[in-house]
Amino acid sequence: MAPTLKSPTERTCERCGRIEVWDESIATWRLTNEDDESDRDVGSPYCIHEWDINGSFVPFEDESKAATA
Ligand SMILES: [Zn+2]
Repeated sequence: MAPTLKSPTERTCERCGRIEVWDESIATWRLTNEDDESDRDVGSPYCIHEWDINGSFVPFEDESKAATA
């Protein structure tokens, strides 16, 4: 049986499309290199990456939004 992972293992930048995966062995995010011929996964080096992480990481959004109305 595989252990249940709580933390996200993949993230994508909403701005430039950079894709990274979590590498447990080195405990850091690592760029995916599924297609070496393309720069698509690398994204822009000047991008202020805005990571879209599936699930888990949802800070208290509702409170701040409700306050503006
Ligand atoms: Zn980016």
